[in-house]
Amino acid sequence: MPNTIGFEMSERLGKLPPYLFAEIDRLKREAVAKGRDIIDMGVGDPDTPTPSFIIEALNRASRDAQNHRYALDAGMPQLRKAIAEWYESRYEVRLDPEREILPLIGSKEGIAHMPLAILNPGEVALIPDPGYPPYRSGTVFAGGVPCLMPLLAENHFLPDLGDIDETQLKRAKMMFLNYPNNPTTACAPLEFMEEALRFGKKNGLAICYDAAYAEMGFEGYEAPSFLGIEGAKERCIEFHSLSKTFSMTGWRIGFAVGNADLIRFLGKIKSNVDSGIFQAVQWAGVTALREGAEEARKILKIYEERRNVLVTGLRKLGWENIEMPAATFYVWIPVPPGYTSQEITLKFLREADIVVTPGNGFGANGEGYFRIALTVPKQRIQEALERIAKIKAGKAKRP
Ligand SMILES: *Cc1c(COP(=O)(O)O)cnc(C)c1O
Repeated sequence: MPNTIGFEMSERLGKLPPYLFAEIDRLKREAVAKGRDIIDMGVGDPDTPTPSFIIEALNRASRDAQNHRYALDAGMPQLRKAIAEWYESRYEVRLDPEREILPLIGSKEGIAHMPLAILNPGEVALIPDPGYPPYRSGTVFAGGVPCLMPLLAENHFLPDLGDIDETQLKRAKMMFLNYPNNPTTACAPLEFMEEALRFGKKNGLAICYDAAYAEMGFEGYEAPSFLGIEGAKERCIEFHSLSKTFSMTGWRIGFAVGNADLIRFLGKIKSNVDSGIFQAVQWAGVTALREGAEEARKILKIYEERRNVLVTGLRKLGWENIEMPAATFYVWIPVPPGYTSQEITLKFLREADIVVTPGNGFGANGEGYFRIALTVPKQRIQEALERIAKIKAGKAKRP
């Protein structure tokens, strides 16, 4: 396309990893335009509606003119208090609502801004690969240098902290970790978290722990908080989200908790960039945290059923090496021999009208995998399995 503005976008934008999904996006648009019946299990966005009592709380609050004005940067005291109470009852960790809690316009925003609050140009952030893309883009925007930590199956998708390049480590100031993990679905044992804290202490790192899926454990699995580890408040900031837990992705509400200095640094960036969360949404957040446990359990039950249908179904089709995820609403699947991540994704789309996400989109070490999001009803998963069976039998070829 001709460039009419007369200059290119900033060099920092040019430093982002290349966008790998153009071809997949194009095919998906084409298929939709042709009216084909697409089963979209690509994006991690809940299909279940936000529970109605949360919507009611928003409706009530939206009628109060006090909520129509600019919100406080640091969030309403009532929201910070509700977060502190929720956190203590869930994790047995006490937080100071004034200094150790910061509401966010979705946790993505806080995660992406964190490097800007910590890094000087040329300083390093340690980032899991595969991983949630904002770790990397936030680092690049801050003029920082991403140092990628491979998450490999042979190490249960935990980074090998002993294997990080010494020169990079000397310049490193922060490490992103995310468990339960997107996209690999791995969960971190406490021993690893303790090791990560010791490592952070030894190397002077801030630990930025993304706990977006902490409330999405199956069969009673309750993921631990990083702040539950003795001494973690000295260097950890933990990111939480209401998005997945309460089917609230579009509402944009999450929060950071932990080390008071890290919270203050991030708060300073934010007070210069945004003006807080719409207060009616904050009130809805208070309601979700105070009264949402039962609904969250119901939502989780739905994902658990879907997970069982998908994984047992794929195993029956001969995909025996698929792990049953203990948390998150994803399944992380090795591609069959002879395919790349991209090739299997395109095959599913072309021959079965099924959208999945190729693993390499989350980083080079995601190659060899694809991710299925459990965000369609059970019957649709069943149908997807039937379509996959047809491809396997070679009966689904389209011209
Ligand atoms: C979905 C997700 C988030 C955050 O979502 P928000 O809607 O911005 O709160 C954060 N981290 C990971 C790994 C996610 O998958």
